[in-house]
Amino acid sequence: MKLLMIHAWNENETSYRGRFSGLLSYPSMTLAVLYSLVPKGMFERVDTVDENSQRVDYDSVHYDLVMISFETSSAFSGYKHCDAFRARGSYVVVGGYHPTAMRDEAAEHADTVIAGPAENSVPQFFSDFAAGCPKPFYRDYNVCMSDHPIPAREITTKKHTLGIPAVIADRGCFNNCSYCSMRTMWKSDPRPVDGVIEELRGLKSKLIIFYDPNFFGKREYALRLMSAMKPLKKLWACNATADFGYDHELMAAAYESGCRGVLIGLESLSSSSLGDARKNFRQADKYKEIIDNIHSHGMAVNGCFVLGFDSDTEEELLELPERIDRLGLDLCRFSVLTPYPGTRLYRDLDESGRITTKQWDRYNQHNAVFSPTNMTAARLDEIYRDVWKRAFRWKRIFHRMRVSPWRHNAYIFILLGANLGFKFLGIDKKYRRK
Ligand code: SF4
Repeated sequence: MKLLMIHAWNENETSYRGRFSGLLSYPSMTLAVLYSLVPKGMFERVDTVDENSQRVDYDSVHYDLVMISFETSSAFSGYKHCDAFRARGSYVVVGGYHPTAMRDEAAEHADTVIAGPAENSVPQFFSDFAAGCPKPFYRDYNVCMSDHPIPAREITTKKHTLGIPAVIADRGCFNNCSYCSMRTMWKSDPRPVDGVIEELRGLKSKLIIFYDPNFFGKREYALRLMSAMKPLKKLWACNATADFGYDHELMAAAYESGCRGVLIGLESLSSSSLGDARKNFRQADKYKEIIDNIHSHGMAVNGCFVLGFDSDTEEELLELPERIDRLGLDLCRFSVLTPYPGTRLYRDLDESGRITTKQWDRYNQHNAVFSPTNMTAARLDEIYRDVWKRAFRWKRIFHRMRVSPWRHNAYIFILLGANLGFKFLGIDKKYRRK
């Protein structure tokens, strides 16, 4: 039997595939984890396609089984592949975020839908498939994280990525932001520290990215993990929440264990909008102090902002580039508020009739797919493009280089590269031209 595994990608998102896309993209963990779950000896041939950099070929090989994972913005590409392979007689399985959130829709294109995490469901599916009795639906959130497989990174392509390996220690987050899609997909405890350390030891790269949605969310666990990481002398970056910038013990431990940068979803400079988002930390007026604190511990801050909350006004959004200058961020990025299926935000907007399109390829954080309160959707898109363009003017990039804690060492070139990446590639060019 022959198996093909695909991580589908939104065909319209060309900006991350260009010559400089490696400045922005990290390797996909999806295929590496799925591959590690394939039973040894079950298939005579196993192929993988990461559509971010590779093309799907329907005809060269006949695959008995095709497994396709996709997020919401890639759903149309994923369904296109499903239909093409089913027409050629393959058994098609779908999984990933969108099939988890939209099970019935996904089932129209696939023989089996796997919802939620793969660790238990995928091996169970393989066992049933081998026995000739695969079920139409699998879902098992009770994953024992000590059984988390070491991802088969050797099969992933580094083409069009930064080439820095990604690791996940804890997929959970206690917070409950209204737009967050993480809780739809993951409900698990952190991995045992020993297992994470073993995985890190096996990585040749000195630089590591943690994909955890909220690395410091479970404080005691994070402290234990960072203490165990110190002897490895890796340099790493992760996602954090704003309150990290008030915890000096945590910040010191992070720096000592090799953390040199954090990405924080600051989301808005308006406390009312942070309330709309149901962020735990809603004091936008404290952001400058928080960023200064993190800088004083030697770490850079990439601040992410979301445009389109109900309390957002045109005036406030248009002021963002100037106000971000005063915060002293090292890097910033923007997205349009996107109500992903499965989130509370999606349910609320859908119930009140404010979702304007379910054309999933527009759910890529570059387009308003709902009616905002204080402006039209078209005006929100316009403001988003304007803010992005002005935030990456040369003078602002150089200002960020000047205030960064990395300004005295070679990491500044990584920061410059990321700023340039966002300047030239951050928005799909198609939308930028409008
Ligand atoms: S803090 Fe981040 S990961 Fe946690 S719920 Fe909010 S957006 Fe999601």
